Amino acid sequence: MNRDEMVERFIQLVQIYSPSKHERQVAEAVEETLRGLGLAPYYDAAGAAIDGDCGNLIAKLPATEPGRPTVMLNAHLDTVEPSRNIRPVIEDDFIRSAGDTILGADDKAGVVIILEVLRALAAEDLARGEVVAVFTVAEEIGLLGAQNLDFGQVHADVAYVMDGGQTTGKMTTAAPYANRMVYTVRGKAAHAGVCPEQGINAIVAASRGIAAMRLGRLDEETTANIGLIQGGTATNIVPDRVVASGEARSHDLQKLTEQTEHMARCMTQAAEQMGAEVEIEQSRSYDGFAIPDSASIVQWASAAAQRLGHTPCTERGGGGSDANIFNAHGIPAVILSTGARDAHTLQESLCISEMVQAARWLLETIRQVNSTPR
Ligand SMILES: [Zn+2]
Repeated sequence: MNRDEMVERFIQLVQIYSPSKHERQVAEAVEETLRGLGLAPYYDAAGAAIDGDCGNLIAKLPATEPGRPTVMLNAHLDTVEPSRNIRPVIEDDFIRSAGDTILGADDKAGVVIILEVLRALAAEDLARGEVVAVFTVAEEIGLLGAQNLDFGQVHADVAYVMDGGQTTGKMTTAAPYANRMVYTVRGKAAHAGVCPEQGINAIVAASRGIAAMRLGRLDEETTANIGLIQGGTATNIVPDRVVASGEARSHDLQKLTEQTEHMARCMTQAAEQMGAEVEIEQSRSYDGFAIPDSASIVQWASAAAQRLGHTPCTERGGGGSDANIFNAHGIPAVILSTGARDAHTLQESLCISEMVQAARWLLETIRQVNSTPR
């Protein structure tokens, strides 16, 4: 693994502004690197489907021996805000932002790791199946790129998603199911000073509904939140409309369903008691997954970590990632750590040696996949 080149590439990529749906510029930089490796990268139609300026970027490293498993490598191209004018600072073994933006190690560390592994694979004489690199767009705003990936064109036996935080050897092998909900409470407007008794206060109704809800961490595998509330027009008007939005997540689908119903019931009852009406929209954000430690995809990565002297461990994640979408489409996918820390904060950092180790780990994992007797 070429540490200096990886650092240089990382510094280059994080300085390219790439918010969700505007990944074109960073994708072109990645595309150029892929072409330099002799690959023929292409974009799929996801960009148009989600109204972004760029589709998912896909590059296939052909099999050197037919019949062996196809491995998908995935990282996402978009970053969260604030990410304009990122000024990366190298301090010993860490890269941080200057403090006024995120760093973008989520997930450009993953992008750099995959590029380095492709370079190593292209240069090495390993009997292996096809390796498909999928660089997704708009992950951070609801896994939109992965959801619009053309699974008729992209086949894989397993997928390693390079989008996990912390140290080498750590894998996320389960993620929750998630629902989102929007409650629109309708009351009746009235002058707050002249005739308040003629009004029905939608904000009060929604507040009572929310106050009755069980929220936060509900048990070790279930969480719920109301994260957004908008309503009212003036202090002297009894508000006739308020919109509250929230989410619930659980590794257990039954618990998710019960929590979603519980929240709807709280809101409906509170509205009814005040003569207000409530309209509820609820939908699945993504499906969860749980891959047992005995599964081949985990065994390969564990064996690889051990070979390199790391302690493999699996854990359940609390969030959604592109791995949820791949699993839902029948491609077993786990998330490997990249050496990134404190994603989505101004303190975000990347441990350089762990990024390099992660690339070695991923390369060794691909060797393990291909060492299994056919
Ligand atoms: Zn990410």
